Amino acid sequence: MGSTNNAKEQRRLFLALWPGETERQQMAELAKQVAGRRRVRDANLHLTLVFLGATTPEQLAGYETALENLTMPTLELTLDRYGYWPQPRLLWLGSSCTPLELYELVAELHRRLRGCGFVPERRAFQAHITLARRFTGRIPAEPLAMPVRWRVSAVSLVESLPSPESSCYEVLRCWPGG
Ligand code: ATP
Ligand code: MG
Repeated sequence: MGSTNNAKEQRRLFLALWPGETERQQMAELAKQVAGRRRVRDANLHLTLVFLGATTPEQLAGYETALENLTMPTLELTLDRYGYWPQPRLLWLGSSCTPLELYELVAELHRRLRGCGFVPERRAFQAHITLARRFTGRIPAEPLAMPVRWRVSAVSLVESLPSPESSCYEVLRCWPGG
């Protein structure tokens, strides 16, 4: 009998804003400057919108249906500040003024996903791009001299795959249009 709870069938998934090459290079350069060798791999830089976690094929089918007609405005993010969370020792890149539309997008994703049984985390959404984990270096106090401007118009469904050093991510598809 095919069990829906078979751990082997589950995939570790999340919804994210995925940078294009230009923005990725800019983010990677900043990560290199502030986090040196402790930095997140360039290819892994992203902004998580909703962490879906271990997902069965049935759940995935439901989520994909729920997100089918998703629309979103083009968002203009200005990444102009660093932040640090001491508990996970996480150094991140973010915005001193996260656009309201981004909060609305996350709320819309939660609304759609709740409709197919997903329970969103209660913690408030905090837009951030992780630059380094277990960070022990100097936390930059000053804002960025040259903010990164990032225009985003799609939500990516991403799979997190185990790899020897850190997880490796693969974009499976995007909404709208894909
Ligand atoms: P690793 O866990 O192997 O060190 P990682 O944290 O990059 O690497 P994942 O744990 O698969 O990889 O996480 C994928 C994305 O989801 C990351 O942006 C991560 O911060 C976020 N994430 C992971 N777990 C949670 C969680 N419990 N709640 C919210 N976001 C999470
Ligand atoms: Mg993790």
